[in-house]
Amino acid sequence: MDISLQQVGYSYAKGTPFEKKALYEVNATIKSGSYTAVIGHTGSGKSTLLLHLNGLLKPTEGVVQVGDIKITSETKGKELKSIRQHVGIVFQFPEHQLFEETVEKDIMFGPLNFGVPVEEARERAHALIKLLGLPEDVAEKSPFDLSGGQMRRVAIAGVLAFKPSILILDEPTAGLDPRGRKEIMELFHRLHEEENLTTILVTHSMEDAAKYADQILVMHEGRSVMAGPPQEVFADADKLKTYRLGLPRSVAFQRDIEKLFGKELNMLALTEEQ
Ligand code: ADP
Repeated sequence: MDISLQQVGYSYAKGTPFEKKALYEVNATIKSGSYTAVIGHTGSGKSTLLLHLNGLLKPTEGVVQVGDIKITSETKGKELKSIRQHVGIVFQFPEHQLFEETVEKDIMFGPLNFGVPVEEARERAHALIKLLGLPEDVAEKSPFDLSGGQMRRVAIAGVLAFKPSILILDEPTAGLDPRGRKEIMELFHRLHEEENLTTILVTHSMEDAAKYADQILVMHEGRSVMAGPPQEVFADADKLKTYRLGLPRSVAFQRDIEKLFGKELNMLALTEEQ
């Protein structure tokens, strides 16, 4: 399922004195099966953009297209709901949305709400507990008795239980320690590779963007200002700087080495000439 945004604009509180324009003429294409990292400074419009991709916001201008479904300012609620069956979204600190008595019930809640039979929903819950590397006995535990990292996995399982074909991740590792971060990022990488899950990651980590994504979208003051493969986007350090973005450490290191050795080699060449 491809996603395309055509001249998308969005204003919060449109028509009120508090109107705030958050997106301007955003054009972007996200191909089925790709892994896109959305980067940009705080307030650049990343979250607003994400909310358009699963129908939680409707554009005030332009068109958002997910597969065959087109969303404009005119789109009605029913169509917006149908998008949510295909697009799962993991919000920041998703564990804050856990609420059921047991982990199993929490993971089953979404599918049951969408009419999946109880037995199938239960099977999905148990398969996800395994897939996410949670101990089997968590199924009957209260989600609130788990560790922070485990709670986050349960919340992620709740999103995957919808069997989305597109997965949106808004800073999914915020607040985790380095080991927890790596485990979660590797999990999404595996899902992307093995299930061919279209993945869209909003991140402040240039490292994660460079390591996992095959496509980068740069947002700046509500506009999509750069798009392309990581090697292309991270090659233009000066342009990224104007958007207040740095380079991944690995790329910066390589550039430093090149600069250093480039100079040394030139000096060697000079000495040889003399
Ligand atoms: P990011 O995710 O890149 O930090 P956001 O999409 O959250 O950016 O915000 C984009 C702009 O929209 C910012 O100027 C922000 O202040 C504004 N904004 C975000 N949410 C709201 C809201 N609910 N009401 C009004 N303005 C908002």
